[in-house]
Amino acid sequence: MQFIDLKEQQKRIGDKIKENVNKVLEHGKYIMGPEVYELEEKLAEYVGMKHCVSCASGTDALLMVLMAKGIGPGDSVFTTPFTFIATAEVISLLGATPVFVDIDERTFNMDPIKLEEALNTFSASGLTPKAVIPVDLFGLPADFDEINRICRKNNLFLIEDAAQGLGGEYKGKKACSLGDIGTTSFFPAKPLGCYGDGGAIFTDDDEMSEVLKSIRTHGKGITKYDNVRIGINGRLDTIQAAILLPKLAIFKEEIDLRQKIAQRYSEELNEKVIVPQVPLGCRSAWAQYTVMTDNRDSLLKLLKDADVPFAIYYPKPLHLQDAFKNGGYKSGDFPVSEKCSESVCSLPMHPYLSDSDFDEIKKIFY
Ligand SMILES: *Cc1c(COP(=O)(O)O)cnc(C)c1O
Repeated sequence: MQFIDLKEQQKRIGDKIKENVNKVLEHGKYIMGPEVYELEEKLAEYVGMKHCVSCASGTDALLMVLMAKGIGPGDSVFTTPFTFIATAEVISLLGATPVFVDIDERTFNMDPIKLEEALNTFSASGLTPKAVIPVDLFGLPADFDEINRICRKNNLFLIEDAAQGLGGEYKGKKACSLGDIGTTSFFPAKPLGCYGDGGAIFTDDDEMSEVLKSIRTHGKGITKYDNVRIGINGRLDTIQAAILLPKLAIFKEEIDLRQKIAQRYSEELNEKVIVPQVPLGCRSAWAQYTVMTDNRDSLLKLLKDADVPFAIYYPKPLHLQDAFKNGGYKSGDFPVSEKCSESVCSLPMHPYLSDSDFDEIKKIFY
């Protein structure tokens, strides 16, 4: 059994993927070839945003957005400590200060009430609040109505980190379109994964889209050798775009399959562990199916003994990581994130989880 099975999907569309990769080998436009533009157009349409700017990873997507907003030393950006390191790392990389805000334990996402509290107590720090990066953790969109309201009130730029969220929905709108700008990742294990690194940014703002395209290619101006700003080498490989196109064609269907598997899990495990909650009006992309239990050690032992793969996302919240020790945080600062890091466990989740795999997993709990 695989935690995330990428082979099953290959059985369905492997031929198409190979055909598309071969096309790239033939035309030879490895950098910014036609497949990149085709993918951007289709992704923008899927998400319902005017522009999609593809890029080299979900990390670069976040980095490029912060660069485009000119965020740097003296600025602070609010995010959650219960996420993958990349979300906060890019803030520090630019010399700005990540400010952590605890999560809601029912959704694992940023708690808007705590965001408001953090903003109210923050004014004395000498830093200028510039942006908020909520994360659609495990595929579930954060509470964007509330977070948008708080960002408008405080004049903050809202960046949706939908690296795990693409395919999810919030009140009829697609993930990646829920803030001022949305970012995602095509890392192989994400809901829409390529066969390497990749990412994308979504915006309705024409000017922002142009700035991002410039940053993506070393701050280019009219031509590549006219450099109008500091940028990066942040492009998505044509081969990865060619791989993503047939995957995107079946993505809707795969997200539906994930709903069925999650529903089945929740029905069966509901009385044994705390199963993930999906608030009314939301749809999760089910990047992960994550349960909580006070008895995690015994659950992990049962999973190991039965040879069922699992993962702990995340075993240490970011405020307790050495990488952020300059922030002066200590144990107890974000009790909900700390509690979740001690009690979560993610179970195998992908669109092709078989009945026999499911039964094998279920047995562990009974
Ligand atoms: C995976 C991930 C990223 C980074 O994406 P990469 O493509 O691996 O750089 C950022 N944020 C979150 C929440 C992620 O899960």
